[in-house]
Amino acid sequence: MPYTFCPQCATRLSPRTLDGVQRLVCSECGWVFYDNSLPCVGVLALREGKILLAKRAVAPFEGYWDIPGGFLESGEHPEEGARREFLEETGLHIEPTDLLGFFMDVYGEEEEPTLNICYLARLRGGEEKAGSDAADIEWFPLDALPERIAFNWAQEALALLRESIQGADR
Ligand SMILES: [Zn+2]
Repeated sequence: MPYTFCPQCATRLSPRTLDGVQRLVCSECGWVFYDNSLPCVGVLALREGKILLAKRAVAPFEGYWDIPGGFLESGEHPEEGARREFLEETGLHIEPTDLLGFFMDVYGEEEEPTLNICYLARLRGGEEKAGSDAADIEWFPLDALPERIAFNWAQEALALLRESIQGADR
């Protein structure tokens, strides 16, 4: 998110090139805005050829189906974030087994860059119930996914998962 004023001393920030990169810098206290992509985690839990998706209860993409997951907390390991977010949204416990990959995307009207870490996971019990910012959850066969999928990265991840499973079947 671009800042206008220094979060330390409230002086107006000015653009400056540091090490070849343009940054917002405070001329008063020297604070530098090092902008990063927001780290997010997503979890793909397969059961009998079906994948659990969550219908978003909030904007952006309200009403669209999404890979369960969310933003990591500061200092939180992505695997821990995966367990926490999946439990919050689905009521189910998981254990991450493999990394499907990293996916770049943007979030919301501000189009903030996100770095999405996507795990494959094994289910470990719990009681299936939509919660947090999920309005509903549902198991979908990989070859019959819903049309309205939220976020480009989720579409990419699901396509990659489908390819890797079909590849393994051959
Ligand atoms: Zn300052």
